[in-house]
Amino acid sequence: MNAKLNAVKGMNDLLPPQSAVWEWFESQVRELMRAYGYRNIRTPIVEPTALFVRGIGEVTDIVEKEMYSFTDALNGEQLTLRPENTAAVVRACIEHNLLYDGGKRLWYTGPMFRHERPQRGRYRQFHQVGAETLGFAGPDVDAELILMARRLWQMLGLSDVRLELNCLGQPEERQRHRLKLIAYFEQHQNELDEDARRRLHRNPLRILDTKNPQMQALVNAAPRLIDELGEASLAHFEGVQALLLAAGQDYTVNPRLVRGLDYYNLTVFEWVTDRLGAQGTVCAGGRYDGLIEQIGGKPAPACGWALGVERVLDLLEQGGMQTPALEPHAYIVLAHAPALAVAMQTAERLRAAGLHVVLHAGSGGMKSQMKKADASAARHALIFGEDEFAAGAVTVKSLRQGQGEAGQQRLVSLQSLEVLIEQLAASAPPALAP
Ligand code: ATP
Ligand code: MG
Repeated sequence: MNAKLNAVKGMNDLLPPQSAVWEWFESQVRELMRAYGYRNIRTPIVEPTALFVRGIGEVTDIVEKEMYSFTDALNGEQLTLRPENTAAVVRACIEHNLLYDGGKRLWYTGPMFRHERPQRGRYRQFHQVGAETLGFAGPDVDAELILMARRLWQMLGLSDVRLELNCLGQPEERQRHRLKLIAYFEQHQNELDEDARRRLHRNPLRILDTKNPQMQALVNAAPRLIDELGEASLAHFEGVQALLLAAGQDYTVNPRLVRGLDYYNLTVFEWVTDRLGAQGTVCAGGRYDGLIEQIGGKPAPACGWALGVERVLDLLEQGGMQTPALEPHAYIVLAHAPALAVAMQTAERLRAAGLHVVLHAGSGGMKSQMKKADASAARHALIFGEDEFAAGAVTVKSLRQGQGEAGQQRLVSLQSLEVLIEQLAASAPPALAP
């Protein structure tokens, strides 16, 4: 035997019945996006490395140490498996001039790749759903994006996610704050841990994000970005908050919320939960007004978010969500080989009427086929035996309580399938209730 091959560490197979939960989740997302007028965009999984270096920023965890980058052996191009999709959406909008007739609302879903230490809620191939608005400057789309995420939690039956909000201002305001921060931390050099000392001149804002309890007091007393914000930034922030309040959405302003990517300005937000341990952020986003220009487009404002599908589904499972019901309406048992063609034809007619029908494949006598029918969770077995074949009919046997008595059976003619179709359709399992 040849040596066994396994999936790459941190990259997971998605198998049935778990995959049904993903399908259901994706259908909810599609409905959500349609409800808000967001249109689907699909960009390649591989992009030029330069797109992410320029788009995400050189001094970020992603670009410094998490990207799967390689040289195309055939033509020497520097390529990267996308670690996120905002930069690619922006690239596509520029490349195809999508903003020529005004702003756009777009959404995507798909795998992203980051070389991180695999653990619960953190994988090397993971999946995001993202929503991006390009060309709109006002706080209205910031609020819309946040409320859209709220609606998704409602659709999924999730109640334990809360909203944190911050305003990062504009680059000049951040620069002023940065200088004050550096001066402040320099005065307290001996209280800084090693990480903080390393970040002091490179990215002092990130020191505010420290998890070290010994530094909390120091960090709490540090100069605040909000005190550096000018009138326009404050007005934007207040605009977002007023719309959220009017919509009945609670939030906390978290001045330490700085986000891992360089491109954010003004509004940033995270939806967080306490039920996923250290990986508590399920959805994160904000405004990135500078990115389109950074990537080579005509300057235009933009705002968006991305959610981690694995984390959201982990939350759902913890809430006791059941795997969606995917029971077929019928399982066809073939007890008389010459009836195969008729059975197959009947299955096709039922499927054309919208029913889900599994036709037995492989060998097996009546008894083992009935076991398979049962295991398929089908509501009914359709039995094609010798007598049925002779009579141009099929035996319909109910396999579940609630579809008449389980075990009840009757002979139905194949002349007209209307009655059968009606009976099978009426036995459809209830839609998933989270
Ligand atoms: P974190 O601080 O958890 O590393 P991040 O700031 O790097 O998150 P973003 O780039 O904002 O994450 O991505 C948006 C969302 O995608 C995150 O909030 C999270 O839900 C999810 N996500 C990010 N990285 C991973 C990963 N390696 N595995 C699974 N989900 C992830
Ligand atoms: Mg990260």
